Amino acid sequence: MHELSIAQSLIGLVEREAEKEGFTRVLEIRLRMGEYAGIIPDCLREFFPLAAAGTKAEGAALEIETLPARFRCPCGYEGGVERRAACCPVCGSTAIRMVSGREFFVEDLKVE
Ligand SMILES: [Zn+2]
Repeated sequence: MHELSIAQSLIGLVEREAEKEGFTRVLEIRLRMGEYAGIIPDCLREFFPLAAAGTKAEGAALEIETLPARFRCPCGYEGGVERRAACCPVCGSTAIRMVSGREFFVEDLKVE
């Protein structure tokens, strides 16, 4: 259900863009999302055609790229952290902060 509403808002965004730029049809949508965006790519792929039916994005290909999350630790480490460990791989601190990983945006649209 969550992914269906995301698919619908994605279509809404694409439709507004199409309106603004005068596209007649969207051929491909390239999405980027952080691994902690809380969206399951396979679910989104499943719901996308339902949300796209009857819109300019009907039949469009959906490309989803998942970006690994990055964390920053007081010790100076910055990079990936194992999901289950949830602590700094260098010093073991749990005072790590996520610097990216929840983003969700349209990278590119292929249109005609
Ligand atoms: Zn550390």
